[in-house]
Amino acid sequence: MEPMFSPPLHRQRHQFVIDFVKRNKPKKVVDLGCSECILLKKLKFHREVELLVGVDINGTKVRKKMYGLAPISTDYLQPTYDQLRIELYQGSVTHKDARVRGFDLVTSIELIEHLTLADVERFSEVVFGYMTPAAVIVSTPNSDFNPLLPGLAGFRHRDHKFEWTRAEFRSWALKVCLEFGYEVELTGVGQAPSGQQEGVGFCSQIGVFHRLGGRDGCHMSLGDEVEDVFSYTLLYSVNYPSLHDSNILGRVLVSEVLYWAEKLKGKWKEEMTGEGNGAHTLRQPEGGEGCVSERCTEVEEKQTACGAEKRNLVEQCGKGASEDQEEEDEEGFWTNGEKRQDSSTLRRSVSVPLDVLWSCCPKVSALSGSLGNLRRLLMDDPQVKLSQDGAAVLVNDQELDFEEEEEDHNDLGDSGYAELGQRSHTAEQEEDWEANVDLEDAALFTGQ
Ligand code: SAM
Repeated sequence: MEPMFSPPLHRQRHQFVIDFVKRNKPKKVVDLGCSECILLKKLKFHREVELLVGVDINGTKVRKKMYGLAPISTDYLQPTYDQLRIELYQGSVTHKDARVRGFDLVTSIELIEHLTLADVERFSEVVFGYMTPAAVIVSTPNSDFNPLLPGLAGFRHRDHKFEWTRAEFRSWALKVCLEFGYEVELTGVGQAPSGQQEGVGFCSQIGVFHRLGGRDGCHMSLGDEVEDVFSYTLLYSVNYPSLHDSNILGRVLVSEVLYWAEKLKGKWKEEMTGEGNGAHTLRQPEGGEGCVSERCTEVEEKQTACGAEKRNLVEQCGKGASEDQEEEDEEGFWTNGEKRQDSSTLRRSVSVPLDVLWSCCPKVSALSGSLGNLRRLLMDDPQVKLSQDGAAVLVNDQELDFEEEEEDHNDLGDSGYAELGQRSHTAEQEEDWEANVDLEDAALFTGQ
């Protein structure tokens, strides 16, 4: 059984919008008649978009799938500097709402034919006259194409109030342009079989409107005299995690610092015990702050290519530890001397200098911006233990607590606790004819 269009017509319409978004990079997009949010779900992956809004008169449809727009775990685990807020409203496109004014792009995909002609007039006024977006994409069935749709009698959907010919659509579009200061390009998706395209046009006709004067043109009509109306009901809103949020930035930075501190501790211990291949050195390269990549490169290279130079890390990072001192404190090399005797355990921390962390991990340096910032950001975090002078992260040397830990594990095992918190169609409501048509009888129209 061959589909009528390949890809299916509703996908071609959405792809048309996505291609427009890729080319024009709008920041604020509103989809009118968003239904079950299928187009919004595709648009949320476009990083240029910072505010994505859906509006539909039918709240039940929107609610049905709206949680599919929520961030997923990777959005939280690997946030970027991209910003995205999504808002969904129940409301009518025939009514004004100030929260959707001045957008970069308004999409209205297969919506206007569900309105009465009087409401299409209101739609034009609300969208082009009040919302005044920089661009509008309107798609609607092209009735010139209907004779080619097998089994179709009447309109394509029982809720359609009209289906326009290309001439009727053009006439409405030009009127809107004249009245509200836009220009329009008329096109479409869903090609006719070869030889018939010119006669009938596209199955879905599309008008792409651009505001005269571009984005700046929007502001001209956003004067004080325009009412601030709020007629829509907010159904759902969500902010995606972004590194612009200082809490999120702090959390990512801390987890990166703890990861690298452990890793550097491990390398140092390999050197100390001679378990490594002798190639590890944690030497801080000369050049001081400001040569992040060099430092990082050097560490990486040393790991594979250079001879071991123990203790260089401490020597070079300005901690003032002399070789003599280290010889005296052989076990405590690169430890901060924070030995303390608990009732049963000798606790010792490995001290990982912040400037080494800063230079070894590009993500740490990128997130913090400067060594001073790094110190400040870590200072108040309860997960991070800094040395007294704030120049190093102290990492527990767990091997010394081995026995104790093993007991702890056994205790947990006995108590039966599981380990918690480890590190962590419906494509749009198709038009009736598309659903009902006997697809086997249908000719294969490709959308290419
Ligand atoms: N735009 C969707 C897409 O491309 O996946 C599908 C549109 S569906 C054919 C038409 C939608 O318009 C329905 O969800 C309907 O509830 C909505 N609608 C009808 N009249 C409306 C109005 N006055 N204001 C807002 N939405 C309306």
